[in-house]
Amino acid sequence: AMKEGGNKIFFFDKSMGQYAKEKFSMVHDLRSALEHQQLQVFLQTQVSSADHVIGAEALVRWNHPVRGMVSPEKFIPVAEETGLIVDLDRWVLQQAVRLIQDADAQGKRLRVSVNISPPHFADATFSDHVCHTVHAAGIDPTLLVLEVTEGLMLHDIDVVIEKMKKVGDTGVKFSLDDFGSGYSSLSYLKRLPIHEVKIDKSFVLDAPTDSNDALIIDMIYSIGNVLRIDVVAEGVETDDHAQYLKKYKGLIRQGYFFGRPQPMADWLRDNLH
Ligand code: C2E
Ligand code: CA
Ligand code: CA
Ligand code: CA
Repeated sequence: AMKEGGNKIFFFDKSMGQYAKEKFSMVHDLRSALEHQQLQVFLQTQVSSADHVIGAEALVRWNHPVRGMVSPEKFIPVAEETGLIVDLDRWVLQQAVRLIQDADAQGKRLRVSVNISPPHFADATFSDHVCHTVHAAGIDPTLLVLEVTEGLMLHDIDVVIEKMKKVGDTGVKFSLDDFGSGYSSLSYLKRLPIHEVKIDKSFVLDAPTDSNDALIIDMIYSIGNVLRIDVVAEGVETDDHAQYLKKYKGLIRQGYFFGRPQPMADWLRDNLH
């Protein structure tokens, strides 16, 4: 029994060590990826209820020289744990702002949504940095949407509101992402100065067949109307999903049915001719 226990401990130590080593190597690689332009911004179309393309969400991809395309589901959590997320999110924000500028130079108003991770939002320089970036670029701030999640609520709500107001005063918009999946609270939704709420894709994916999910969508859509904020449904994968959502007037839609996330250049070629 002693021996067995010893082996177990050894195995445990080894796998933990392996895990730590892999994480360490990923942090190292990710830092150099940021420096060496291995990150790429993909864009996914957002469509109005009248079927017009109204803009796109920026989604980061890591084109790793050995591992190939690495999903953000893999490296965003590591970036969040290590604080690297601040630089990463800022890099994506910079790309988004440039995109809005380029579109503007072609006489087009392009709305771009960018994801802001909770530790990035919590950074003391968050609001100043966003205000400065938008001002320096001279873009119409209302074309920039910052997607935040309920993960923000782990922090003091008054501080969250104050930061959002500071950024919101410039005209930049906030969207509450993955709504319904986490700590959703109606009182938060009411108090936060946000312009948009995104229904978590888990509800959208099952709505045509699951009456509970359908009811949750009804509810979030009604709340959006009461609060006079935009409502976005993501995870619109199939024709069934798209048909199902037609009954919601003014609903913005996003998902594989309207287009997969595409490299920026491809998206621009297809959508900004
Ligand atoms: P998210 O912000 O909820 O983004 C939506 C995710 O759903 C994206 O995954 C998108 O590709 C995927 N998706 C889009 N349409 C469909 C559909 O019809 N069906 C299904 N099943 N999925 C769909 P992606 O690009 O892998 O990103 C995963 C998550 O990584 C994002 O979830 C977001 O939380 C995070 N992320 C991505 N880019 C950034 C970034 O620049 N900064 C930060 N902080 N997080 C990011
Ligand atoms: Ca998002
Ligand atoms: Ca989402
Ligand atoms: Ca379900």
